[in-house]
Amino acid sequence: MSMTLHIFNSFTCNARWPSAWKTGEVSLLVETSDGLVLVDTGLGLDDYARPTWFTQFFRVITEMPFDPDEAAINRVKGLGFRPEDVRHIVLTHMHFDHCGGLADFPQARVHVHRREYQAYRQGWRTPLGAAYVPRHTAHKPDFVLYEATGEKWFDFDAIRLPFDPEMWLIPLPGHTPGMCGVAVKTDTGWRLHCGDAAGDFRKDLPGWAIRLMLGPHEPRLRAFGQAHPEVALTASHMFLDYFEN
Ligand SMILES: [Zn+2]
Repeated sequence: MSMTLHIFNSFTCNARWPSAWKTGEVSLLVETSDGLVLVDTGLGLDDYARPTWFTQFFRVITEMPFDPDEAAINRVKGLGFRPEDVRHIVLTHMHFDHCGGLADFPQARVHVHRREYQAYRQGWRTPLGAAYVPRHTAHKPDFVLYEATGEKWFDFDAIRLPFDPEMWLIPLPGHTPGMCGVAVKTDTGWRLHCGDAAGDFRKDLPGWAIRLMLGPHEPRLRAFGQAHPEVALTASHMFLDYFEN
């Protein structure tokens, strides 16, 4: 069946230095045979209404418009859909800026790698654990947890998601223990969304910083993208010009 993939910016967060680093956050909205599948949510309405201390901290060290129009629920409405039509949410990882909007879609099943869910539950006891916000799952969503199955997508270890068109979780641990990319088969070819395992591939960001902040996978992902021009690659925090067309 013919499927449409929508891409929108669910969270703008600009570095104070270097000031040229103005980034959004890629969310995907995939029309599937089982309703809408949202990949990553940005912040949720509750984050805008009652910011956590961690979000407040980020508002000091970065420059955020902090505009609830960017919340996935408002973006989904802006695309002409009803929030309740989002049947599933796939998370690249569970940091505050990727799953803050879960409660805005209380009916959605939440698909995530088991290691990531465990790290989220262990919270501050893990590296970068302060970025896991317990409140984001206080509504007790219905989680579907995934582990390696020995399957491959191209030459990546991969886990098939139960959707049509084909979608895959691609484990890329490093930034977080259960960080995953998400591959989606679209009408025009494959898209591999790399989450926070890579930075904006269009930019020449310093390799040491990428490795430190995003883990070891970026060189392989970049080489894969060059070898497979038929696969469109995105990272979570694309620079704002990516979202302008
Ligand atoms: Zn992120």
